[in-house]
Amino acid sequence: MVTRLQFIDKNQFDIKELKEAADIIKDGGLVAFPTETVYGLGADGLKEEAAKKIYAAKGRPSDNPLILHIADVSALEELSTKVPKSAYDLAEKFWPGPLTMILNKSGKVPYGTTGGLETVAVRMPNDEVALALIKMSGAYIAAPSANTSGRPSPTTAKHVMDDLSGKIDMVLDGGQVGIGIESTIVDLTGEYPTILRPGYITKSMLEEVVGEVRLDAAILKENKDKNLKPKAPGMKYKHYAPKGDLTIFEGNMEHIIAKINELAAENIANGQKVGIIATTETSDQYKHGIVKTVGTRADELTVAHGLYAVLREFDDLGVNLIYAESFEEYELGQAIMNRLLKAAGYDVVHIN
Ligand code: AMP
Ligand code: MG
Repeated sequence: MVTRLQFIDKNQFDIKELKEAADIIKDGGLVAFPTETVYGLGADGLKEEAAKKIYAAKGRPSDNPLILHIADVSALEELSTKVPKSAYDLAEKFWPGPLTMILNKSGKVPYGTTGGLETVAVRMPNDEVALALIKMSGAYIAAPSANTSGRPSPTTAKHVMDDLSGKIDMVLDGGQVGIGIESTIVDLTGEYPTILRPGYITKSMLEEVVGEVRLDAAILKENKDKNLKPKAPGMKYKHYAPKGDLTIFEGNMEHIIAKINELAAENIANGQKVGIIATTETSDQYKHGIVKTVGTRADELTVAHGLYAVLREFDDLGVNLIYAESFEEYELGQAIMNRLLKAAGYDVVHIN
């Protein structure tokens, strides 16, 4: 299969430019498209056969459920048998936006989309191209991140082509995404709303709307060794992983920099290719290896935005050892550390 790459100007496009993409979705094919979080790989989520193709193209384990993307809140009634008031309140505040809600699924949603679960994940993306595509196709578009399973999520159309060219029908190139890490997932089927995956919408932002919100214990760093089973099936995989071996350093920043400089020099002398994930505040202090500035600590959104691209750049450069600074697990930093920890397989060194 030849994958068509179509450019589309997010800020100024004619709906006609999406006709071919919408037709592919209607016919049960695969189209990758931009959202504000990362690029998604879309198919008609109510057609089991179409959803199956997503798993095949990504090499995704079949028990890892897909998120359904909608363009109108009224879809909730159709996709779920029991929509709690909290879902409408959250939708009102955060949709379209980077928040996915888990609800009890209706009979219309095939198990092939939910990984066999009785629940369904739903999100309304905040991207004009994505919304127009959903409307024009008349489908609820199931779309996980448009990467090969296990690789860092794609934040540009090039990343998508690198992974999936030849395996999907079309890629809509709407430029760089706005946020850069996947949506916050909140489960609304239990007694308390529970965050299954941290993201741009933080716990405190959700609490302003629905009161007490809990955090799935399995995603907390201190529980990493206890073999807790995460409630979002996808969170159990060593996701987001670069090819190189990534280690995170936490503690006193000055000492971290000294340690990384020492290890980098030593390993380069041993013939290793070393990459360093630095921030604007620190990057000029690293003396060895390939130093990439992921963003600035003064605005962690820049870090979220740059993280996956940096991991992919190190892959392209054939880096086999990566050292990263850590971030405080607070607000957006919690989502950044969640992704970084998974990329590192929870390999964290504490430096006093
Ligand atoms: P991705 O779109 O690639 O970011 O993956 C979707 C994420 O949503 C995975 O981590 C899934 O485990 C999670 N997810 C999707 N549906 C459900 C569901 N019904 N219950 C819990 N987690 C879900
Ligand atoms: Mg993914």
